[in-house]
Amino acid sequence: MNDHVDLHVHSNHSDGVLAPAALVEVLAAAGVRLFALTDHDSVAGVAAATAAARARGLTAVPGIELSANWQGRGIHIVGLGIDPASPALAAAIAALSIARFERLAAIGERLERGGAPGRAAVESLRDVATPTRTHIARALVELGAARDVPAAFTRWLGRGRPGHVASAWPELAATVEVIAASGGVAVLAHPLRYTLSPGQRRRLAHDFRAAGGTALEVVTGGAAPHQIETALGLALRSGLEGSVGSDCHDPALAWHRPERLAKLPEAVAPVWQRWDPTPRRALEA
Ligand code: AMP
Ligand code: MN
Ligand code: MN
Ligand code: MN
Repeated sequence: MNDHVDLHVHSNHSDGVLAPAALVEVLAAAGVRLFALTDHDSVAGVAAATAAARARGLTAVPGIELSANWQGRGIHIVGLGIDPASPALAAAIAALSIARFERLAAIGERLERGGAPGRAAVESLRDVATPTRTHIARALVELGAARDVPAAFTRWLGRGRPGHVASAWPELAATVEVIAASGGVAVLAHPLRYTLSPGQRRRLAHDFRAAGGTALEVVTGGAAPHQIETALGLALRSGLEGSVGSDCHDPALAWHRPERLAKLPEAVAPVWQRWDPTPRRALEA
């Protein structure tokens, strides 16, 4: 059995497909008892998720997934236990929103030059509050420029492709500071998903810890046992606690289903202990 915990899920306030209340229904049906809604650069869905969780008897930890930069690359830092009304967080979100819309326009132009319907794709996203590359990918699929979302990344949006734009996100240390200022703890998201050598990955985890980071996602959606081992080693080596998050965007996609998450290895301290009154052993009885 897993931990019944999922501290990384998305709603339609960023690039997930479900509204927060519908997402809570899916989580409840999957047996999740403690979760965090972690939309990209947005806390717009947190209040609705918390209200739905209360009605369903689940515990909601207020969360966000912030876009950051480390050594010129985009990385993701999850903030857990943040105060959604924090002025420091609101200022960071406002700056990220500007950066997102600027990047959206730049991606649209590059796509157009590269032969894809970039202008139409951007036009279709005018009313999206937090436009992500997932939204652009879906628009490209809709416009017939790609078969599906992964194909849109492979052909148009990924590194080295016509629509790729280097992201101008705030630095890692500043991002960890914002999370701390809003009362939360910082978690390095999906550490194995970045294109980094093992040495670079260790430096990232080290820099993250040095900046005041608390935990690292040891168990992520779709991770194989050897990947969990690798992430566990990274957490233990850098003195970070462990987190568990499916990164579910769409429950219809099998590999992201929260009920298929592995259990956090005993060797690492669970980041959720601070919000969770249930001792781990009690769950096994
Ligand atoms: P952004 O924050 O705008 O750069 O968008 C990043 C989001 O795009 C990630 O959170 C994923 O949901 C999605 N994404 C990134 N790479 C891929 C990929 N290769 N295939 C499918 N979705 C992807
Ligand atoms: Mn996403
Ligand atoms: Mn992410
Ligand atoms: Mn995510």
